[in-house]
Amino acid sequence: MTELERQQWDVVIVGAGGAGLRAAIEARERGARTAVICKSLFGKAHTVMAEGGIAASMGNVNSGDNWQVHFRDTMRGGKFLNQWRMAELHAQEAPDRVWELETWGALFDRTHDGKISQRNFGGHEYPRLAHVGDRTGLELIRTLQQKIVSLQQEDKAEFGDYEARLKVFQECTVTRVLKDGNRVSGTFCYERETGRFFVLEAPSVVLATGGIGKSFKVTSNSWEYTGDGQALALLAGAPLLNMEFVQFHPTGMVWPPSVKGILVTESVRGDGGVLRNSEGKRFMFNYIPDVFKEKYAQTEEEGDRWYEDPDNNRRPPELLPRDEVARAINSEVKAGRGSPHGGVFLDVSTRMPADVIRRRLPSMYHQFKELADVDITAEAMEVGPTCHYVMGGIAVESDSAATLGVPGLFAAGEVAGGMHGSNRLGGNSLSDLLVFGRRAGWHAADYAAALTPRPSVDEGQIDRAAAEALRPFSAVAQDDGAQPENPYTLHQELQQTMNDLVGIIRRGGEMEQALERLGGLRARAQRAGVEGHRQFNPGWHLSLDLRNMLLVSECIARAALERTESRGGHTREDCPTMEREWRPVNLLCRLVDPTEGLAATDPQRGQIALERTATEPIRPDLLALFEKEELVKYLAEEELYQ
Ligand code: FAD
Repeated sequence: MTELERQQWDVVIVGAGGAGLRAAIEARERGARTAVICKSLFGKAHTVMAEGGIAASMGNVNSGDNWQVHFRDTMRGGKFLNQWRMAELHAQEAPDRVWELETWGALFDRTHDGKISQRNFGGHEYPRLAHVGDRTGLELIRTLQQKIVSLQQEDKAEFGDYEARLKVFQECTVTRVLKDGNRVSGTFCYERETGRFFVLEAPSVVLATGGIGKSFKVTSNSWEYTGDGQALALLAGAPLLNMEFVQFHPTGMVWPPSVKGILVTESVRGDGGVLRNSEGKRFMFNYIPDVFKEKYAQTEEEGDRWYEDPDNNRRPPELLPRDEVARAINSEVKAGRGSPHGGVFLDVSTRMPADVIRRRLPSMYHQFKELADVDITAEAMEVGPTCHYVMGGIAVESDSAATLGVPGLFAAGEVAGGMHGSNRLGGNSLSDLLVFGRRAGWHAADYAAALTPRPSVDEGQIDRAAAEALRPFSAVAQDDGAQPENPYTLHQELQQTMNDLVGIIRRGGEMEQALERLGGLRARAQRAGVEGHRQFNPGWHLSLDLRNMLLVSECIARAALERTESRGGHTREDCPTMEREWRPVNLLCRLVDPTEGLAATDPQRGQIALERTATEPIRPDLLALFEKEELVKYLAEEELYQ
C-alpha cells in the first residue's frame, strides 16, 4: 500500500486559469470546501496570455448589439455545430460576468463617455470585446486572484485559517481522477518540486486544464497545454466531443525560428491592420466564402469606410472568422506569394499613427521589437498560421458542465467541448471561461452537498497510479540492446507528426500515416526513461505528459479521418466542401477499455474508439433568429424539413 498524505475536500478544481478560478469562487461562495490545484505557479495560467478581450454584447459602442446577435455570430462562426444551448447561455450571461469582474476590481479600457470600451474582432457583427489594451487576460486573472484572496481573508476572520474553505496547491500536477465505482472520489497528484505524491479526496472534481497545443510543433500555447484534462476525462470513462476541430490562428510570428508560433493578436486586424502578399495585394478580398458574401465588403474602399461608419458599410474580409483567414494565408504562401520567411505581411504601420499603435497594441509593439527587431509602427509584420485553440473537448451537459456518464466529474473552459462548434470566434473563450466556470463550480458544489454517503478512495487505484507515475524511473535496456526512450525525442516526433500530417490542411492518407506513427510512438512511450530523482525533474514530468498528448493526438487524428468534409477548424483537401449532412453529426471519442488501463489496449487498434451521435435539434425560437435562406446553407435536409 502506498503511504501518502490524504486531504478531504468537497470540490477539487484542476486548473487555475480563468475557468478554474471562476469555478473555485463559485463553489466556495456556495459553501463548498474547495481545493484548487495547478501545475504552474498560481497566476501563471494560459489565460494570462490572452490579449484581445472578452466578448460580451454589452452594446456600449454600438447599441444594436444584444445577446441574440452574439448568439447568431457564435453559431455562424462555429458553422452551426455548436452545442446551441451552450451558445445561448454564453451569449446571455457574458455581460453579467464582465460587470461582475468590474465589481471585483477589474479596470477595463473606457469609451469617451466612461463606459467599458469594446473593440471589433473577426466574426463579431458589432464592437464587442471588452479589453485592457492587449493584456486583457492578465487583468482577468489578477481580478479573480484578488477575489480569491478576499474570500480567504473572510475565512481567516471567521475560522482563524485563510485556507479553511479555499486552498490553492500550486506547482502540483494531477495524473489520475480516482473513482468509487462509477462516481468520482478524488485526484491523485504529485508536487513538481519534491516529486511527493498526495491524494485529494472529494466527491466533485472540476477539470479546467485548458488546451492541447503542445502536441503540435508550431503553436501559440504555453508549456502546460499537454491535453491533461482531456486525457484524465478519457481515463475516467468520460467521452470527448468533436476533437477534429483545432483552431489554427491565422497570425502567429514566423520569424525568428525560436519564436515561431507566438501569437499576433487579432486586435491588430480589429483595429485596422491589413494582410498583404508579396505583391502588395490585399488578398483577403479573393477569399470571401459564399456563406459570408453578403456580410463583407467587396472593395478596399468600402472595407476602409467601415472603420468610421460601420452602420452604412460592410466589414473588411481581414475580419472573417479565423478558419477562413488561416486557410487564405496558407493558400497565398503555397501559391508562392508569401513573405521571405514563409508567411504574409500584416501591416498597421501605414494604417495608424505610431503613437496610436503603441497605445492600443503595446504588447505587440514590444513583442516584435524585442523578439524580431521589427518596429511595427514603421514596417509590416510577417505572420502565418499557428495552432492556437481546441474547439473539441470533454463532452458536457450544457447547463451544469457535468461530463457524460461519470457522476461528480465536471469540465469548463478550453478543456470542454461543444460551445464553439467547429470554430471559435476571438474573445469568446474568456467569456466562455467565466460563464461555464461559474456554472461548473455551482453544480459541483451542489452535487457534493447532496451526496451521502461520500464515495471512498480505493487503495488499489492509488497503488496503480503511483506505479504508473514511477515507471519512467525503472525503464531499462531491452534484451535486444534497445535503450530506454528519451521523452524529449518522443515529444519532438509527436509534434512533427501532428504538424505535418494532421495540421491545417488534412488528407485521408496522411492521417492514416499519422495514426500508424502514433501507434509506434505509444509503444515507445511505454519505455520512456528518465535519470535522476523525483525532485524537480522536468524530463520525468514530460514523460508523464506524453501519455496525455498521445491520447489526445489519437483522438484528433481518428476524428479528423472520420469526418469526410471541411468545416471550421477541420479542412480536408480530399473533401474540400462543408457537407450539410454532417451538420447533425457529433463524433465522440472514448477510451477502448478504461477499466483495464492503457497497457491492455490493442496496439494495432489504438486506444480510442469513435462513436457517431446525433446533435440535439436546435430550438425553434433560436432558429427563428436566422433568415431561412441562411439556414438552408447550413442545416441538413431532414433538419430543414422538421
Ligand atoms: P488555462 O488558463 O490554461 O488554465 C489551465 C490551468 O490548468 C493552468 O493553471 C494549468 O497549470 C492547469 N493544469 C493543466 N494540466 C494540469 C494538471 N494535470 N494538473 C494540475 N493542473 C493542471 N481568448 C479570448 O477569448 N480572448 C483573447 O484575447 C485571447 N487571447 C489569447 C492569446 C494567446 C496568446 C493565447 C494562447 C490564447 C488566447 N485566447 C484568448 C484563448 C484563451 O486565452 C484560452 O482559451 C483560455 O485562457 C483558456 O483558459 P482555461 O481556464 O480553460 O485554461
